[in-house]
Amino acid sequence: MNKKQTLFLAVILAASSIANAQNKAKHEDTEIYEPVPNVVTPGKTNSDAPSDAVVLFDGKNLDQWTLTDQRGTAANWLVADGILTVNKRSGNIETTKAFGSYQLHVEWRIPANITGSDQARGNSGVFLASLGKGDAGYELQILDSYKNKTYVNGQAGSIYKQFIPLVNASKPPGEWQTYDIIWTAPTFNEDGTVKTPAKATVFHNGVLVQNNVSLLGPTQFIGQPSYNNAKHGPAPIKLQAHGDKSEPLSYRNIWVREL
Ligand code: MG
Repeated sequence: MNKKQTLFLAVILAASSIANAQNKAKHEDTEIYEPVPNVVTPGKTNSDAPSDAVVLFDGKNLDQWTLTDQRGTAANWLVADGILTVNKRSGNIETTKAFGSYQLHVEWRIPANITGSDQARGNSGVFLASLGKGDAGYELQILDSYKNKTYVNGQAGSIYKQFIPLVNASKPPGEWQTYDIIWTAPTFNEDGTVKTPAKATVFHNGVLVQNNVSLLGPTQFIGQPSYNNAKHGPAPIKLQAHGDKSEPLSYRNIWVREL
C-alpha cells in the first residue's frame, strides 16, 4: 500500500468503529419511565380550573379571602351573579392561605362605563406576594390600557414600575380579560440578603407579556425597588382596591396551582 491507500484505509476503519459504537447504543438508554407526572384533567377551556387547582373564587363566596389591613376579618367586596366587584371603601383583600411558587389564573373586567384617565381608570392589581398592609408586595398591574395613555411601566401587564409588558394585549372596557401567571418566589439567605430573586411569567389574554423576568424587589411607588429588609416566606395573593374615583372593576374565576 502506498501512503494514500494507508490513509484511506485508516479513515474507513475509524468511520466503521464510530458506526459500531452507535449501533451498541440503544434507544432505551435515553427513555425515562419514572417518576411519572401526575395525571391532571384539563378544564373545558384553558380558563377553567384544572383538577389539582385550589379555587380561590368560584363565584359564590369569599371564604378564602380576608381584608389585608385587618387580617382575620372576612373580605367584604361585593359578590353577585358569580362575579366579585371591588369595594374601594374596604381596601385590599388577600387570600387567607399563603403560597410559595405557583401558577395563577385571574379574570378581570373593566366596567363598560369606565371614566377617568391615566392611572385613575380601572386601576387594580394582583400582588403576587402580599407583604402586609396596604400595597406592600409585588404588583402585577391591572388598568384600563385600551387606548388609555400612562407610563408604560405602569400599564396593564406591567410588573409595576419594574417591567414594561412585551405587548399591549388589552381588550376594551366591558370585556373579560385573563391573566395567567407563573410566579417563582424569591429565596433569601440567613442574613436577609436575597439568594434568588422572584421571577414572573405573565400571559395577558393568552399573550405573553412578561417572559420570566427577575424582579428587583417588592414594588415601590416612590424610589428604586430592592430586596433590603424584604426577607419573607410563603405569602398571600392580594387584590388591590385602588383609591381612584373611577368605577370599580370586577373579578371572576380565580384559581391557583402550587408548584
Ligand atoms: Mg394598581
